[in-house]
Amino acid sequence: MKLSKQIVDPLLHWYQENARKLPWRIDATPYHVWVSEIMLQQTRVEAVIGYYYRFMESLPTIQDLAMVDEEKLLKLWEGLGYYSRVRNLQKTAQLLCRDGDGNLPETYDELINLPGIGPYTAGAISSIAYRQKVAAVDGNVLRVVSRLTMDSSCIDEESVKRKWKEAIEQIMPEESGMFNQALMEIGAMVCIPNGNPLCHLCPLSHLCKAHRENRMLEYPVRKQKPKREIISMTVFLMLYYDRVAILKRKDEGLLAKFYEFPNIDRKLSKCQAEAYLNDNNIKWIGIEEGPSAKHIFTHKEWHMVSYIVWLREPVDSYLFCTGKQLEEVYPIPSAFEKYRKHVENLWKKEAYLHFSQRNL
Ligand code: SF4
Repeated sequence: MKLSKQIVDPLLHWYQENARKLPWRIDATPYHVWVSEIMLQQTRVEAVIGYYYRFMESLPTIQDLAMVDEEKLLKLWEGLGYYSRVRNLQKTAQLLCRDGDGNLPETYDELINLPGIGPYTAGAISSIAYRQKVAAVDGNVLRVVSRLTMDSSCIDEESVKRKWKEAIEQIMPEESGMFNQALMEIGAMVCIPNGNPLCHLCPLSHLCKAHRENRMLEYPVRKQKPKREIISMTVFLMLYYDRVAILKRKDEGLLAKFYEFPNIDRKLSKCQAEAYLNDNNIKWIGIEEGPSAKHIFTHKEWHMVSYIVWLREPVDSYLFCTGKQLEEVYPIPSAFEKYRKHVENLWKKEAYLHFSQRNL
């Protein structure tokens, strides 16, 4: 794999003219670069900006991140998904404060040994915040370089990523952070992933093999993804006056330690749902069908149906929380976002009062 040095100047020039003004670029401290890069994994820039501001306002330093209560931390990340990211952020912050001076190390080799920091993030922190000449190779960068060179190696292979990292470092200029960001930015804004790249706006089009042969969509080459496991579920939105039932998930596994609405791993008809409530000694006044929802994880899909259950009395094994607590205290993962909104709407309409007047 070989890249031409000729791409460096047009790329840097383009970046200086076209880079988006993003909050973490304005004051690119190691902490800011680290948190933003972790948030941006699997997540769109527009979705991250609000989270980034809230996170930095609540936890402005690595020491604050190390010490924050886990539930508050999960609440700050609520809705961003891929929650092991935020757990690793805190684990690393705690290690840095326990074993060192509470700062991130400068070198790639030290960074990559920290929890949750892989080759890409280590490259981004060391080049952007510490100006080291290290490449940061993410999916955007791999797409650009594969198209530039019409390279058919599968970019999902670790060995291919490593080779591209070395090839980029061969042509890396002094402005390493800017160069890495320029490659990523061109991948995000011009050499885009779905649909045709915007080659007419690309400063590298005169050097790009795939563009010359009009074969841009054949690159990069990727592995077929394995099919996701489908899990059918029934979610119960159990309402008792202005409170809704939630419970804490297990300490390990998917969405560990988050809160959720009571649910079971199969789809129930309305009759079956009523029988399930009776079998579990749940005293209800009424039940009606709620919305269906689908949530996609990396390896699984949850296909959910729901029932709104109006309770005669609370259930001991659940926590009954108010809307304010749901909003401010208990972290609910984005998989249940539709249900959280539905409950909030029911509260707004004071649906429980209307229901109880009709049925009690
Ligand atoms: S010319 Fe087109 S395909 Fe080539 S790098 Fe630029 S946007 Fe991508």
